[in-house]
Amino acid sequence: MGEGSCFEIGLPCIPSVTSSEPENPKLGEIEPDSTPTKVSPLILLAEDNKANIITVSSYLKAKGYRLLVAKNGLEAIALARNERPDVILMDIQMPRMDGLEAIQQIRRTPRLADIPIIALTALAMPGDRDRCLAAGADDYLSKPVKLQQLVTVIQQLLAP
Ligand code: MN
Repeated sequence: MGEGSCFEIGLPCIPSVTSSEPENPKLGEIEPDSTPTKVSPLILLAEDNKANIITVSSYLKAKGYRLLVAKNGLEAIALARNERPDVILMDIQMPRMDGLEAIQQIRRTPRLADIPIIALTALAMPGDRDRCLAAGADDYLSKPVKLQQLVTVIQQLLAP
């Protein structure tokens, strides 16, 4: 009160490439197009909160990832089966089936058992991390999720 407030926001945008270089490379400098195009990793976000879905998915899309969204544990398992994502981000508190149960079921499915899973939870209670890891998550982040940290963890899990 009477002192004002200071806010800092991060916008998930991709800066446009501005270049003074001519568009077309000189003949003879054209790079061979033989390198296969890399398909960007597919991320499954299981999350029931709309604001979180928008924030996380728009940030990850801006970072070049492909996104799938599930709104509860049952949808997450169905999408994981059909699409076999490269990484799963799993909210723990969700309706119908919570994230812990969904993680356990995915881990019991041989074809899906090795997909990296990052558990996300608002309950930063002692023991939370252990419960998520015991259920089969590879890593754990407490909410509010720091987006840069999330990308770092995703990159680590995708690294060969
Ligand atoms: Mn939730």
